[in-house]
Amino acid sequence: MICERVSDVIESILHQPFGSLAFPIAENTLRIRIRIKRNAVNKVMVLFGDRYQPIAKDLAIEMVRVDADELFDFFQVDLHLPTRRFRYTFFIVGREGDIWYGDKGAARDRQNAGDFQFPYINEADRFTVPEWVKEGIIYQIFPERFANGDQNNDPKHLAKWGDKPKPNNFFGGDLAGIIEKLPYLEDLGINVIYLTPVFASPSNHKYDTIDYYQIDPHFGDLNTVKKLVAESHRRGIRIIFDAVFNHCGNNFFAFQDVVKNGENSEYKDWFHIESFPIKTEPRPNYETFANDVVTMPKLRTANKEVRSYLLDIARYWIREADIDGWRLDVSNEVDHSFWREFRHAVKEEKKEALIIGEIWHDAAPWLEGDQYDSVMNYLFRDAIYDFVAKKSIGVASFAARLTKARMKYKDQANFAMFNLIDSHDTERFINSSGFNENSLKLAALLQMTYVGMPMIYYGTEIGMDGFNDPDCRKTFVWDEKEQNADLLTYYKKLIAIRKKSSALTKGDFRSLIVDEIRQIYGFIRSYGTEKAVVVINALPIEQEIEVELPFTASEAKELISGKEYLVKEQVVKIKIEGEAGIILQF
Ligand code: CA
Repeated sequence: MICERVSDVIESILHQPFGSLAFPIAENTLRIRIRIKRNAVNKVMVLFGDRYQPIAKDLAIEMVRVDADELFDFFQVDLHLPTRRFRYTFFIVGREGDIWYGDKGAARDRQNAGDFQFPYINEADRFTVPEWVKEGIIYQIFPERFANGDQNNDPKHLAKWGDKPKPNNFFGGDLAGIIEKLPYLEDLGINVIYLTPVFASPSNHKYDTIDYYQIDPHFGDLNTVKKLVAESHRRGIRIIFDAVFNHCGNNFFAFQDVVKNGENSEYKDWFHIESFPIKTEPRPNYETFANDVVTMPKLRTANKEVRSYLLDIARYWIREADIDGWRLDVSNEVDHSFWREFRHAVKEEKKEALIIGEIWHDAAPWLEGDQYDSVMNYLFRDAIYDFVAKKSIGVASFAARLTKARMKYKDQANFAMFNLIDSHDTERFINSSGFNENSLKLAALLQMTYVGMPMIYYGTEIGMDGFNDPDCRKTFVWDEKEQNADLLTYYKKLIAIRKKSSALTKGDFRSLIVDEIRQIYGFIRSYGTEKAVVVINALPIEQEIEVELPFTASEAKELISGKEYLVKEQVVKIKIEGEAGIILQF
């Protein structure tokens, strides 16, 4: 008979020998996690061994409590076995009694708990992401609005640079403009550019592609792209394209063929069509992006011809222009089996290419390692939006939401995340915060110190504002007198700090302080002996903090101010201004 308190603990346990709870991180290393009711257990041990060896030869290792959300603790440990064939069981030392936990369930003894099996770490199944993501700092550009480098390719009826963006107006921005501004971007310190779509399309956003093999004539041509990529690479900057494969534009040749030839079109199975002929009133008789966006017919990726057509595009731009990866639009509505083929094609073309999905919610099914490397991390954005911009949640909820988001994914994906605070699909962060520059600076600090790649939406670094689309797509302010110079300097500084620190780029993450009363949040990033401790004060008043360190050190340097601090008995005393943060380096 297991007592009630123990059964509470048992009910809270979550482990499965796959997904984000058991995943290889190296040739013969398996990382495992277990979730247990918060503050309910003293210790969790794992007993493990080769599947073919008797349990008498098992090794025992203690798990580390790596983080917690409101309800649960998360324990983690790495198991090493030269033979790669794992069998393991948990021994949980509870406050009210001990529990064995294995494949058969919870029990008083090991035999009745059984063992979990991770049969073999196969090379081909291992989730690897390009090593460069750890150093990556992304800059997102909406090309129509960044810089106009070539007046000769401008659309007719151009709005004046600086005018209000409308759903259908044009300003003449192009790829030549981006090439011209590469020195600015290099000086800012970013090293990845993600471009929203650049292929031929009638709109200013170009999410309704007419021709996937042609650069939009208002943006340039194949040579301009080649030049952009080559010049960027020369400066250590990678280029990511946007793949709009969920749907095409209604002027795409295949859809036009169906419009013209109806049921007799050889492309009729490229789309989801209810009846012929094609009509758009009162509602379209074909499936579209979202509901009834008639200009964006949904592509039928279950069709073999569609698949091979799209996969060829994925390969073509890597081969021809040497781009470094693809961001996938509305990727959660395209089938998994297509993305598996897509990954294979892309990685075969360029091993170091990156694949990022556009997913605004839990993306675990796409981040198993067989589809994407990462996603646009809207879970991170939403947490920062609620905590820093809207102040609708406190530190505890914020920390819990970040923990939950990290624990959903394998760490390979966590390090490859596009950590954004705004984008072409959201209002700008400065607007969300009620034009509070301190909030923006705090959000930037969190981005630049967190696990995963910080993503800057063009112009956020100079204080550009904008409400929801189309207002968030204003033309870049190139007149330095109109830019927020202080903010730009701050961004440059944070970027430089991140790039110099192995702890901030490659380090493990652990929460350190979650103080709901004083609204203080702190975490540690550690890489080998290098450590960075980040502490933020979310209240609008200055607070003096005593940071208790879980390691020994004699002094610390605060990287934003450059001030040195002494550590006394593992405590650093430091004042933090209202709505600001510090980065201590050890
Ligand atoms: Ca132009």
